[in-house]
Amino acid sequence: MQFVDLASQQKRIKENIDTRIANVLSHGKYILGPENKEVEERLAAYVGSKYALACSSGTDALVLALMAYGIGPGDAILTTPFTFIATAEAASLLGATPIFVDIDLKTFNIDPVKLEETIAAFKGKNNSVALPVNHASLTLKGVIPVDLFGLCADYDAIREITEREKLFLLEDAAQSMGGEYKGRKACSLGDIGCTSFFPAKPLGCYGDGGMCFTDDKAKADLMFSASIHGTGKSQYDNVIIGMNGRFDTIQAAVLLAKFDIFEDEVELRQKVAQKYTELLAGIKGLNTPYIPEGYKSAWAQYSILADNNEQRTKIRAALQEKGIPSAVYYPKPLNMQTAFESLGYKLGDFPVSEDCSDRIFSLPMHPYLTEAEQGLIVDIISRNS
Ligand SMILES: *Cc1c(COP(=O)(O)O)cnc(C)c1O
Repeated sequence: MQFVDLASQQKRIKENIDTRIANVLSHGKYILGPENKEVEERLAAYVGSKYALACSSGTDALVLALMAYGIGPGDAILTTPFTFIATAEAASLLGATPIFVDIDLKTFNIDPVKLEETIAAFKGKNNSVALPVNHASLTLKGVIPVDLFGLCADYDAIREITEREKLFLLEDAAQSMGGEYKGRKACSLGDIGCTSFFPAKPLGCYGDGGMCFTDDKAKADLMFSASIHGTGKSQYDNVIIGMNGRFDTIQAAVLLAKFDIFEDEVELRQKVAQKYTELLAGIKGLNTPYIPEGYKSAWAQYSILADNNEQRTKIRAALQEKGIPSAVYYPKPLNMQTAFESLGYKLGDFPVSEDCSDRIFSLPMHPYLTEAEQGLIVDIISRNS
């Protein structure tokens, strides 16, 4: 059994992919070809943003967005420690400092109440939450909520805080393309939304890729410039420090073929997730995903909380024995990563994230998972809980 079955998907769209790749080979515009523009237009329209910029990866999408705000040393970015390292790494790459805010146990996303507390602590109004050792020398600039496992963070609550505090809001939508929040699409919920086309994400290409979405023309122009070495009026007029952050035309061609069936796949993911939740209901000690009213998850992952670490270990071992893959996202919150040692955080600073790291695990999840496969998976879980 596959954790993410890209082969079944490819069978559906093989001809479309072949034709689109052959087109690129015949026009030969391998960098910034017409497919790039087409995929930007189609995805901007889909998520409901005015501008979209295709780029080299989800990580680079975050870096480009931060570059558009001129982020650098001395700046601080508030984000969750319960995410893939790229979220906070993007800030650190530019010399800025991530400040972590613990999550809500039910959604696994940044907790708006703790966001308030952290900002208050930063201003010296309380000492109820941990801050990085160098916090006194920093200026708060923005917040990056993550739509973890495909479920959007609580943007209304977060937006209220960022507006009051004059902070920018970047949506890390690397896992949530296809998701919705109160009638709006994921990727369109921040001042800039950043997604990833890594092959295993809900909408992936056959390599690395990403996209930035915004309604702000000035920011869109800055991100475009930053993605081609800070280009100004022409290729050899460089006005800001940027990077080589472009999206390959061949990958844009692949993405166009995948996008043709994407909305159908999002619906198939809903069915698979619903089936899991139905089958898993009532198994002792297990918590299935919570989807608040008005939200739709893109189901990048179907993640459940075991009662404790031993139960998780036992279930995963039993699944593995039957050749069924499972995964732990994320075994270590970012405050405990060696790469962020210099921030001076310690175990116990983010109890909810740390608790989740101990108990969470994800089951095979993709649009082509069959009910028979799901039955088999849940049967093993049930007998080992
Ligand atoms: C995958 C991911 C990224 C980075 O995307 P890449 O395309 O792999 O660089 C960033 N944030 C989160 C939450 C992710 O899951």
